[in-house]
Amino acid sequence: MPDFTKPEALHLMKILLPFWLALFSLLPSCHPPIAARQGSLTENSKEAPGKPYLLLISCDGFRWDYVERFQPQRLKDFIAKGVAAESMIPCYPSKTFPNHFSIATGMYPDHHGLVDNSFYSPNKKAEYRTRDREKVEDGSWYGGTPIWVQATKSGMVTASYFFVGSEADVQGIRPTYYHQYDGSVSNDDRVDAVLDWLKLPEKQRPHLITLYFSDMDDVGHRYGPHADEQLREALLKLDESLGRLFDGISATGLPVTTIIVSDHGMYAVPVDQLIATETVEDDDRYRTVSNGALIHFYLHDGVDKAAVFHDLKEKENHFRVYYTEEVPYFETPPTSENWGDIMAIPDAGWYFASQRTIGLRKTGGQKEIGEHGYDPGIKDLQGIFYANGPSIQKGLRIGSFKNIHVYPFMCKILGIDIPENVDGDLNILQGVLK
Ligand code: AMP
Ligand code: ZN
Ligand code: ZN
Repeated sequence: MPDFTKPEALHLMKILLPFWLALFSLLPSCHPPIAARQGSLTENSKEAPGKPYLLLISCDGFRWDYVERFQPQRLKDFIAKGVAAESMIPCYPSKTFPNHFSIATGMYPDHHGLVDNSFYSPNKKAEYRTRDREKVEDGSWYGGTPIWVQATKSGMVTASYFFVGSEADVQGIRPTYYHQYDGSVSNDDRVDAVLDWLKLPEKQRPHLITLYFSDMDDVGHRYGPHADEQLREALLKLDESLGRLFDGISATGLPVTTIIVSDHGMYAVPVDQLIATETVEDDDRYRTVSNGALIHFYLHDGVDKAAVFHDLKEKENHFRVYYTEEVPYFETPPTSENWGDIMAIPDAGWYFASQRTIGLRKTGGQKEIGEHGYDPGIKDLQGIFYANGPSIQKGLRIGSFKNIHVYPFMCKILGIDIPENVDGDLNILQGVLK
């Protein structure tokens, strides 16, 4: 600890003065300050003022039918004065990381490379895991051009209070302000930070903000998608935070368009329908990476693929084994090596777990939990798309659509170019715009 009475320490404080001032100007005014990290571009370009503001909110695991079932008032008002889709269809697999990144890039997981929450890359000879900070923050795992990267390239300041990929240096670019993921930050602190960003002077004010809430996914996993009481309680609480956010945005008077999405829905899994992952492992012949609703098998060099396939096939019991190219749920034929050579997919409502987890579940007293990752064509696995703001039609209801189409829609709202290699198509949501 420096002694601040010493002249050298005073001198040090003086040289650092501009840094302290910059830091304090970013801190929210009336709640525990959580300083944002500083990413790329620091000021909007000369063209950016006058351009719209876009807020992308993801509510993890928010199933398409929750608003109808639980009647959250603020969300209902938001929808009534904006646009709602019947549901938003995830990409396969209906897991968090691939789908958030499909929303962020407009690409299928096969094309952006984040094929699952955890997977092995034969090319990198390494495993990606959502809890592995080094991998999560390493931009070389992420293909495509996330919307904040595209906005940055167009000279716009961007900000993120969490979003899959936002902590990584994708193409060397991070949002101007971003946070390392920390699920313990309260929703209200996240909301306050977003409102503070919108109050920044125009030059530093982000034109694109992403925000993420995990509540509905947490509760959906824990109690299952039939647990009305717990789901309602969580949703009404989230609705309060959203209401505070909506009010705060109105108070700024800024032309902010808000899009609320989710990555997937939730499927009921009875706890006696858990399958032990150990039964399909064979470390001598292949690497196994399980995500519960799907398992990836990566064969060691020289191992006979047909023989492994045959042996796994013999074990089928409430799950099916496929050569990766024959998995029936892909939107386009798989090209990424990250899927593995062979995959095992349980029937919807069955789930792979370790023997240890199965033991704990059995003694836990709970009969049913919630999981996702299965075929996105099943309605229970589908999520939400709601939008409201100056560029959005009022009172419009649209049919279900695939989440890759949100990206070109966001580019259009921000007035920035749509990269050529995206899978999403602007025509799908064009009619939602005024
Ligand atoms: P899932 O396992 O598919 O249910 O993933 C949901 C979980 O992903 C959330 O509960 C968070 O803990 C985690 N998560 C969401 N965003 C991030 C992130 N940016 N970095 C690390 N973990 C995240
Ligand atoms: Zn999720
Ligand atoms: Zn989940």
